[in-house]
Amino acid sequence: MTNKLYGNLIFELSHEGRRGYSLPRNKFSQYEVPAALRRQEEAQLPECDELTVVRHYTNLSLNNFGVDNGFYPLGSCTMKYNPKINEEMAALPQFQNLHPMQPDHTVEGARAATIMLENSLCALTGLAHFTFKPYAGAHGELTGLMVIDNYHRSCGDVQRKKVIVPDSAHGTNPASAAVCGLDILEVKSTAEGLVDLADLQRIVSLEGPNIAAMMMTNPNTLGLFECQIPQIAQLIHDCGALMYYDGANLNPMLGACRPGDMGFDVMHINLHKTFSTPHGGGGPGSGPVGVREGLQQFFPVVSPYHGNFAVILRALAYIITLGRDHIKEVGPLATLNANYIKESLKDVYELPIDGLCCHEFVFDGLKDKSTGVTTMDVAKRLLDYGYHAPTIYFPLLFHESLMVEPTENESKETLDGFISVMRRIAEEAKSDPELVKTAPHNTPIGRVDDVLAAKHPVTTYKQLKNEQD
Ligand SMILES: *Cc1c(COP(=O)(O)O)cnc(C)c1O
Repeated sequence: MTNKLYGNLIFELSHEGRRGYSLPRNKFSQYEVPAALRRQEEAQLPECDELTVVRHYTNLSLNNFGVDNGFYPLGSCTMKYNPKINEEMAALPQFQNLHPMQPDHTVEGARAATIMLENSLCALTGLAHFTFKPYAGAHGELTGLMVIDNYHRSCGDVQRKKVIVPDSAHGTNPASAAVCGLDILEVKSTAEGLVDLADLQRIVSLEGPNIAAMMMTNPNTLGLFECQIPQIAQLIHDCGALMYYDGANLNPMLGACRPGDMGFDVMHINLHKTFSTPHGGGGPGSGPVGVREGLQQFFPVVSPYHGNFAVILRALAYIITLGRDHIKEVGPLATLNANYIKESLKDVYELPIDGLCCHEFVFDGLKDKSTGVTTMDVAKRLLDYGYHAPTIYFPLLFHESLMVEPTENESKETLDGFISVMRRIAEEAKSDPELVKTAPHNTPIGRVDDVLAAKHPVTTYKQLKNEQD
């Protein structure tokens, strides 16, 4: 970016005495703030004219990358299509100005909207009741596991404290189980990337009476449809445990099949992923939890009031916009797009598990390993070409995982553009590996030290000055 203001902090643009605004003269009598409450030194605030401030922050915002300025192939994170009408609905003043303490009879519209969404989710999942209190997918997992734990306690089965989780699972699954005070039993995947039934049988015969639940994602995090759910559910139910479904990315299933029909008892949905709320940078989210009839009395209270209402509204707007017929097209189109990219690139990128994928798939780095170019390098080089990076180094099953999810709404031209850039990077890895290994070259900031940035973030200007001292 050739912008001479770029790179300066607002503090560095400051000139003493410069003003961007002026307050009206104070016509009221003076009030003396007690000395003990007054600053001893002047606040160190930047002093800039209005245009400098506007340009500084506008230019900073242009360094953001989002779905509105480019293709976003991040896998396991369905959030790439956020229709603007949802934002309009969520911003209606009749919704936005509600207060959670308002008397019930003044918020009947909001309650009707929530009930409409609950009915839609029940219809889409085959479960009987939903709670909207959880604020995120992981919060939903914890809530769902608490339902399961409460259920077992109510049966006097207090020893059921173990949860079976596939080795391909999203990291939040074992983490939520741990937060809920449950231990993890990891079940292996087969070479085809599906749950290893023999390993599951072994675990169930060893631990049966101690098992609280099995957590599954379907399609799993490799983008593969677990076709043995009925056998798995039978095995789990026969030993007295419940089936938990991680529906963070429910989109490929919409209108095609339902977790409730497959034998799942409890599930969460990430409304912010599956039903379109922009949530980059950590929010906002909503992870409603659904249960089979008879389990609703075990819902714990995990947050005050009614959950993240604006996300509920966006999800409802998304579902109503598509309607019963068109919602069925989401999965097939996302699946078509993912398979198109996969097939167009698998001669240059390593595809560890071949065959049809669902809405996402995983490469294990470049096919030609002799160049030394890693998945990290490919991801960084993509930034030079104006693409967001895919999910990298997840799932943990492969060394060089690179997980792509295009979603349903991308045009063929967009997919072709991404494919050609991915192929070009594969060529560069051979002809000029240094170019790829030192990427990105065109972004305002090159490679940052992720660990340093996470462990010792410098978030104040003063701190920066001190460190230079
Ligand atoms: C994103 C995701 C989660 C966690 O959801 P958060 O809202 O980020 O807490 C859980 N499971 C799967 C499969 C996911 O993709």
